[in-house]
Amino acid sequence: MLPYAVQLALILSNPFTKAVFYYDASGYHRGLFQLPLYVICFYYVGFGVVYCLFFKDVLLRNLRFSLYLFMIICIGSSLYQFFHPLYLIENFAITFCLLLIYLNLQRPEDFIHDHTGALNDYAFSKNFLINQRTQRQNRILFLCIEELSVLNYTFTPEKVLLLLSAVTTKLEHASRQSVYYLGNGAFAIMYKSQKPYSTDALLKRIKSIFESSWDIDSSKIDLEFRTLELSLPKHGPNLETVYLYLEYLQELDNSNHWSLSADDISIFDTARRQQVEAAMKWAIDNDGFEVYYQPIYSTGKNSIASAEALIRLRTEELGFIPPDEFIPLAEQNGMILKIGHIVFDKVFRFMSENSLNKKGIEYVEINLSMIQCMQEGLSEELISLMQKYHIDGKHINLEITETAAATSPKMLIQNMTLLSDQGITFSLDDFGTGYSNITSLLNLPLSIVKFDKSMIDMASGDDTGKMILDSSTAMIKQMNLNIVAEGIETMLQKETLVQSGIDYLQGYFFSRPVPGPEFLKYIEEFNCV
Ligand code: C2E
Ligand code: CA
Ligand code: CA
Repeated sequence: MLPYAVQLALILSNPFTKAVFYYDASGYHRGLFQLPLYVICFYYVGFGVVYCLFFKDVLLRNLRFSLYLFMIICIGSSLYQFFHPLYLIENFAITFCLLLIYLNLQRPEDFIHDHTGALNDYAFSKNFLINQRTQRQNRILFLCIEELSVLNYTFTPEKVLLLLSAVTTKLEHASRQSVYYLGNGAFAIMYKSQKPYSTDALLKRIKSIFESSWDIDSSKIDLEFRTLELSLPKHGPNLETVYLYLEYLQELDNSNHWSLSADDISIFDTARRQQVEAAMKWAIDNDGFEVYYQPIYSTGKNSIASAEALIRLRTEELGFIPPDEFIPLAEQNGMILKIGHIVFDKVFRFMSENSLNKKGIEYVEINLSMIQCMQEGLSEELISLMQKYHIDGKHINLEITETAAATSPKMLIQNMTLLSDQGITFSLDDFGTGYSNITSLLNLPLSIVKFDKSMIDMASGDDTGKMILDSSTAMIKQMNLNIVAEGIETMLQKETLVQSGIDYLQGYFFSRPVPGPEFLKYIEEFNCV
C-alpha cells in the first residue's frame, strides 16, 4: 500500500506543487516527480506478473491471457509515452485492455449455487487450490444434513431448497465465513485457525442453530447433522482426498458422534472401496472370478450329496478379497447382476462338464442376492443357461436370504414360482441371524432351511442354545422342509446334529470351500468309502 499512498499523494498535491506535470502557455510539461510515478507503476505491474504466475492454474485461461496482455501493453505503452511525451497513448491502451479483462472476467454466477445462495462446488475447488498456495485458510469443516433423502421424499424439491437456503444463511451467520454448498445436504466452511481445538466455539455456534426447529412448507421439522473437521494440508494434500473425507461423512450411518475430526477416522476404507470396485470391474472383464465348492454331507446317506458354490476374487494387487467385502459393494453399485450371471455360468458349466449328478451330487446350491431375486429377467436368464448347458432344474438349489424372504415382494414370488416350475428348489440361508418371519417361510416355495453357524455354535455352548436348535428343528420338520446346518467344525458337533435329525451338514469339519478339481477329488474319495 505504501507505494500506492505515495503515488496518490503526489497526484493529489500536483495542483499545488506542479511536481508531476503542469501546463503553461507553451503547453504540457513534466515535473520532477514524473519518474517516481513510473517506478511505482512498474512495481505494481511486476507484482501483477508474479501473482498471475503463482495462481496460473486457478485463473481461467482467457482471463490469464488478458491479464498478461494487459501487462505487456501497459509496460509497452508507458515506455513509449515516457520517451514520446506528446503521444498520449498510455490511457487509451489501458482502457482497451480493461475492456478485454472485463469481457473475460470470471462471472460471479459461476461460483454461486443456484438456489441456496451459498458458494458452489466449483468455487470450493478453486478456493481450495488458492488456499493450497497461500495457506490463508487451514481448516475445512464439512457439515452434512442427515436424511436429506427423507426430506426429498416428503417435500417438493423447491421446498427442500428453500430450507437449505435458510440453513446457508444461518451457517454464514454462525461461522462468519463463506459457506459452500456441495450438494446432497453437504456444506463446507473454510477458515483459518492455529489452535488445535479451535472449532469448539464454531461448533457450539453451529450446534445452537440446529437446536430450534426449521420451517418447511408450513410445518416444523428438526434437522440432524454431522460435522467433520479437516486440517490442511494434513488431511487434504489434494482435492480428491478432501472429497473422500466428505464421502466418508455422508456414508457414515448410526454414528453416535455428531462431530468428528479427520484425525479420528481413516478414509482408507473409502480408498479401499474404490480399489475393490476396480478389482471387481477387472474381474468381470477378464474372467477373474473363481467359484469354489464346499461339500455338503447328507446324514441320511452318509455321503456328500451336494455343495454350495462360493465365489472367490483374487487380484495381484489386493490378494484375496473376501466375498463378505465385495458382494455388498457389488449390490450397491449394481455389478451384482453381472457377477451373478458369471457365477451361474461357471457353476452350470462345471456341473455339465463333470456330470456331477452321476457322482452322487443331487444338487448344487447357488447364493442369490436380494437384488437378483427382484430382477425381472432372472428366470429367463437361468432357463436359457440351463438349456445351454443341458442342466435339469432339479439339480439346482438357489439360496435366498432371510431379508429377501421376509419382505416377500411380488417379484421374488413371481421369480420363485417360474423357477420352481422348472424344478429348481430354494433354500433359506442364514436362518437364525435375522428376524425370522415364520409366515414368510410358509408363503414361499422353499425346500431347505439353512441354520446359520451362530445357531450351531450356540447349541454346542449351552442348554438354551440346544433347546432353540431342537425346537426350531422340530418346527421346520413339521413344515416338511429339509435342514442344512452350516459351520460344522468338530466331530462332536457333527454327532450331536446327526442325533438331532438334521438332514445335511456343511462346514470345515468336512471341507473348506475348494476349487472345482479339488472338490471332484474330494467327493470321489469320500463317496467311495
Ligand atoms: P454364506 O452363504 O453364509 O456362506 C457360508 C460361508 O461360511 C462361506 O464363507 C464359507 O466359507 C463359510 N464357512 C463354511 N463352513 C464354515 C466353518 O466350518 N467355519 C467357518 N468359520 N466358516 C465356514 P465365504 O465363502 O467367505 O462367503 C461369505 C458370504 O458371501 C456367503 O455367506 C454369501 O452370503 C456370500 N457369497 C459367497 N458367494 C456368493 C455368490 O456367488 N453370490 C452371492 N450373492 N453371495 C455370495
Ligand atoms: Ca449361502
Ligand atoms: Ca449361510
